[in-house]
Amino acid sequence: MAKIAVLGAAESGVGTAVLAQQKGYEVFVSDMGKIKDKYKSVLDAHGLSWEEGQHTEREILSADEIVKSPGIPDTAPLVAEARRRGIPVISEIEFAARYTHARMLCITGSNGKTTTTSLIYHILKTAGFNVGLGGNIGQSLALQVAQGERDWYVIELSSFQLDNMYDFRADIAVLLNITPDHLDRYDFCMQNYVDSKLRILQNQTANDTFVYWAGDEWIGKELARRNVQSRVLAFADAPEAGSEHPAAYPEAESLVVNHPQHFEMPLDALSLSGRHNLRNCMAAAIATLSAGVSPEVLRQCLSDFPGVEHRLEKVCIAGGITYINDSKATNVDACYCALESMTTPVVLIVGGKDKGNDYAPLRDLISRKCRALVYLGADNSKLHSAFDDLGLPVADTDSMQACVTACASLAQPGDVVLLSPCCASFDLFKNMEDRGEQFKALAHQLPK
Ligand code: ADP
Repeated sequence: MAKIAVLGAAESGVGTAVLAQQKGYEVFVSDMGKIKDKYKSVLDAHGLSWEEGQHTEREILSADEIVKSPGIPDTAPLVAEARRRGIPVISEIEFAARYTHARMLCITGSNGKTTTTSLIYHILKTAGFNVGLGGNIGQSLALQVAQGERDWYVIELSSFQLDNMYDFRADIAVLLNITPDHLDRYDFCMQNYVDSKLRILQNQTANDTFVYWAGDEWIGKELARRNVQSRVLAFADAPEAGSEHPAAYPEAESLVVNHPQHFEMPLDALSLSGRHNLRNCMAAAIATLSAGVSPEVLRQCLSDFPGVEHRLEKVCIAGGITYINDSKATNVDACYCALESMTTPVVLIVGGKDKGNDYAPLRDLISRKCRALVYLGADNSKLHSAFDDLGLPVADTDSMQACVTACASLAQPGDVVLLSPCCASFDLFKNMEDRGEQFKALAHQLPK
């Protein structure tokens, strides 16, 4: 009996183990850390062999193939040894895709993956497709494949997953953008990271579609030097993007799509706001029209998509002030996009665990858009140096309670209070979700 070793026993690893067992493999699951109870119960319920707190080489290196969690780097000694011995090391998506005939609509990029993936899923589901959602979001693809057949999967792919994909082919692939990220996993070489993202194109044929942002610094150049077979459709920030003829663009207050069919809707009818989200909407429009969704359903879905939690999420209106949770904005670029999309005066909450941020790009926007700043962090000194001289009212806080109280007193009716912190959350919160949830709970308690 052929053997599969699974490294990492979280969502993707446990799904892989269940599917591999169902397909008749001997399976061994190994996690260097502690396995969560909910995953242990699934492994036990299926009678699968597993270990935690160690990797037993004898068990793992006797496998015919290894499926590795995206969190484990290729440089991990056991993975390097497996490669040296010629044992294939693949990702969960590569493995699961062998056992389904469903069509694959895959999304990658440095920013916007979760939003665009969720939007595309919303559109296909509303259109009545038999569709599953997988990859970095929700349930693993492997478990879904083990549980039943779908016609389509919408899959969010990180570069780490793409790194261990070889024969996988996306029917429709979306590459949103490429900006420096995770370079520690790519020998601090941007080209390596770019090559990883471009793997989403591999194995595509003339029957497949590749959707990308024409404004990206890297993608166009990379396409020019590759032999791309796919039908390539770009979206752009303007009708003419250099020499390109984009398939989607904004023009005269409308979102226009020309390929694969004509589609138009007013920009102010889009439920998501901000320039970055307009790009995500254009990507979703091209991808879903290519999948066969009707313009009517697409129009409805682009205007009723509720958005994704912690990303420019409208929480409530209290005392005439609108509270918005953008806790996922953990870098300066994300906060910039959020602030840029605001149309009324803003009380901006920034701060947390600084990741070596350069706050200079925000200064002009803050001067133009903000009524006041509320710093929220264990150490706000860098924020004081970055912004105090702009002359805006500033409050210094180190708990969400103090922060929301300060915001409520600094904001005026008609204003927005925006949590878009530029920073990681680990100084005061468990994670960005915890930060966003505390903010929402306290905003809801304010007198209406
Ligand atoms: P990811 O899953 O790639 O991390 P998300 O959809 O969770 O992306 O969005 C994370 C943050 O990235 C958002 O808060 C937003 O500020 C920013 N963002 C979203 N879409 C884009 C885009 N197309 N280009 C640049 N930034 C974006």
